[in-house]
Amino acid sequence: MKYRNLGKSGLRLSELSFGSWVTFNHQVDTRLAERMFAICFDAGINFFDNAEAYEAGESEIVMGKALRKLNKPRDSYCVSSKVMFGRIPNFGALPTQKGLSRKHVTEACHQAMERLQVDYLDLYFCHRPDPRTPIEETVWAMHNLITQGKVLYWGTSEWSAEQIKEAYDFARENHLSAPSMEQPQYNMLDRKRFEEEYQSLYKDYGLGTTIWSPLASGVLTGKYLEGVPQGSRATLKGYEWLQKRVMESERGKIRLNIVKKLNELADELGISMTKLALAWCLLNKNVSTVILGASKIEQLEENLASAEVLTLLTEETQEKIQSILNSADTEAGDPAEDGVE
Ligand code: NDP
Repeated sequence: MKYRNLGKSGLRLSELSFGSWVTFNHQVDTRLAERMFAICFDAGINFFDNAEAYEAGESEIVMGKALRKLNKPRDSYCVSSKVMFGRIPNFGALPTQKGLSRKHVTEACHQAMERLQVDYLDLYFCHRPDPRTPIEETVWAMHNLITQGKVLYWGTSEWSAEQIKEAYDFARENHLSAPSMEQPQYNMLDRKRFEEEYQSLYKDYGLGTTIWSPLASGVLTGKYLEGVPQGSRATLKGYEWLQKRVMESERGKIRLNIVKKLNELADELGISMTKLALAWCLLNKNVSTVILGASKIEQLEENLASAEVLTLLTEETQEKIQSILNSADTEAGDPAEDGVE
């Protein structure tokens, strides 16, 4: 495993990390989570991602129990949580139980620490912007949690470059802790925000990134090319939006056509589409860590082996990939707009 700094911070994260969205408490129970974490630790992973909204807090409970069982030294790994949507599905939380007010940011931190069975969160994200709370209030709340030792690094997820700059500049002007990282979607099919909008933030602000859905929810494994496989994410209750996005929408068809071409290239290289897609994310030096998702041990093992194919991604191959990706507009947007985080 290789390690990268989280932006300009001194924190060294494994370039591959592991997250729990959809899977934990749904496809993955505590026993399986424990086995998966053991594999992750053996592979050198040191960052595990979570959020208050995942399975209404149950995902953090599963993660907390599994980590406690493994009993690894607390200073050998990092855990995160994210605040904003609240713990009640479909944004049904009471007004004080969601958003980025000082009250909810603080209480959600305490609750996440309890569920994860830790004394502090290494990384704490604002899961989306909150149009109802001034950014200054959220920056102060995060700063206070940092000075209290409850959070080590704070950041954002899917904020616009302008919002991140506002938070950063306010923090700097007032000698407060500035955001260290952003958690954006980034994969072969969803590149615009990461590659274009955020460009100046990497250089001017030293922003770190923990990227999500590197396989576009499994689409970039190529497994949806022949239809929706039984038991895959697109068949899960609550994830009907994925089936629509993948198979039915016009954009979904365009995306699958690109995956088909990439799949042929992967065949030529003699590697799986999955490894090609994950290794491609690692090529980008503005990525601090690629958060993997997996519902099965075999998937996790395959994904952990993706860095091995990096040497095959020569300049010539990278150019071929680029021309396939540039041949159509594949951007699908943010699943949170469909009521899913
Ligand atoms: P991916 O895009 O990598 O999708 C993971 C899913 O794809 C798996 O659960 C599995 O689904 C399928 N899959 C993975 N590997 C394989 C394989 N080798 N072969 C076949 N199928 C495979 O990542 P996620 O969407 O899960 O996102 C990763 C993490 O990012 C999350 O756990 C979360 O921590 C974070 N995240 C953050 C968000 C944010 O708003 N900040 C939003 C979303 C995620 P299945 O078997 O069910 O088909």
